Amino acid sequence: MKIPIKLYNTLTRKKETFKPIKAGKVGLYSCGPTVYNYAHIGNLRTYIFNDILKRILLYNGYDVKHVMNITDVGHLTSDEDEGEDKVEMEAKKEHKTAIEIAKFYSRAFQSDIEQLNILPPSIWCKATEHIAEQITLIQQLEKKGYTYKTADGIYFDTSKFKNYGKFAKLKIKQLKAGARIKIGEKKSKTDFALWKFSFPEQKRQMEWQSPWGKGFPGWHLECSAMSMRYLGEHFDIHTGGIDHIPVHHENEIAQSEVATGKKFVNYWIHANFLVMSDEGKMSKSAGEFLRLQTLIEKNYSPLDYRYFCLTAHYRSELLFSWQNLDAAKAAFSNMKNKVLEVKQNLEVTGTRTEKIKKKKEEFKKIINDDLNMPAALAFFWNILKNEELKNNEKYALMLNFDHIFGLQLDKVKKEEIEIPEKIKQLAEKREQARKSKDFKLADELREKIKKQGFWIDDTEQGYEIKKI
Ligand code: AMP
Ligand code: ZN
Repeated sequence: MKIPIKLYNTLTRKKETFKPIKAGKVGLYSCGPTVYNYAHIGNLRTYIFNDILKRILLYNGYDVKHVMNITDVGHLTSDEDEGEDKVEMEAKKEHKTAIEIAKFYSRAFQSDIEQLNILPPSIWCKATEHIAEQITLIQQLEKKGYTYKTADGIYFDTSKFKNYGKFAKLKIKQLKAGARIKIGEKKSKTDFALWKFSFPEQKRQMEWQSPWGKGFPGWHLECSAMSMRYLGEHFDIHTGGIDHIPVHHENEIAQSEVATGKKFVNYWIHANFLVMSDEGKMSKSAGEFLRLQTLIEKNYSPLDYRYFCLTAHYRSELLFSWQNLDAAKAAFSNMKNKVLEVKQNLEVTGTRTEKIKKKKEEFKKIINDDLNMPAALAFFWNILKNEELKNNEKYALMLNFDHIFGLQLDKVKKEEIEIPEKIKQLAEKREQARKSKDFKLADELREKIKKQGFWIDDTEQGYEIKKI
């Protein structure tokens, strides 16, 4: 029985059955990082979502061509086509070249996603290595009469594209009426830069010759140019965070569809935000932000964070707090212990393939329903508790489900528990109390240790500290 994949498509605001353009194949494009700083854990939530989507497509037998860009030029500090180029700005701040900055933060990002067990894309592409494709795209738009020139660049005239604003359900009239912000020479607020000129006083490091003068491409242009270069003018799925809907993706659709005269993408899938319990949205411009390394330094593993992300549906906000992360870490640790227990008690007799097949189908139905990870995790826990299944069967199922979760359950080892120094001291104090026959104090200390999650086992060779 073929179980359809249902995906919530931002284009129609409906859950739809996924139908690929070419049977058995999927072209998938994900907006990648702007490499002027480390990724924060909110960004990483979006890349974990991308990974789950891709793993589900692979699980369903699709051959997935996944393209991800690296924005190393053109992303300005303001969505209004003003402000500084983020990468150039960081280069000045760190007294490095823009190339060094981009290289450094690209590697940091790639290391983060590797640690999170995110499958790498089939193709990485950098904006700076696709300038020719971007210039060609502008020329196509120019030929069709959709561009105009101002003192600072070449702009896309959104008023000429009749569907402009439809995707994000933008209220263009209200936008115009309420436009208080400076739009300079732009004809309307929603028009966006395709090419920005560079001026000598800016002392830009990244600039290229073009038919319109020296300059650099606008941010939205790179994603249209590179996705079409690798996936064709019409492809299956495009992803990003929800903040990309109103500007970045609206603009990608406008310029791509005008240039080719074709529908650009069939399914647009967007991940909701990770929010902080006190400050709301996590953002880099706000200064302090949490990155994967911060979590590692606080003794959380990257996979603890991955498990945490699986506990919420990708279309819901996910509230970050240390307490919530602790709960996920504890649940994941419990999961690993249970997997180990099952693994250590495998029966010698064979598995019942029919039973396994049925459970796999139930699992597939859950994940194919718009990536329902919380329900998939609950299903996993039910398998563990299921007394009708043999350990052989449970183990086979768990490893199979982990193709989606990506929690490396096949590598689970007996955890080396780290005993905190203060617990060791309390245990030693208790031992001394026992030796001097102060059993009241010894019991009190044992209780104190227990409250902190550890247990003292007295053996003939002395005492042992165990984790509860
Ligand atoms: P950027 O590097 O700023 O281009 O962002 C990389 C990705 O992270 C984009 O897909 C954004 O939509 C996404 N993103 C930004 N902030 C958050 C957040 N707080 N939670 C989840 N995703 C985010
Ligand atoms: Zn993009």
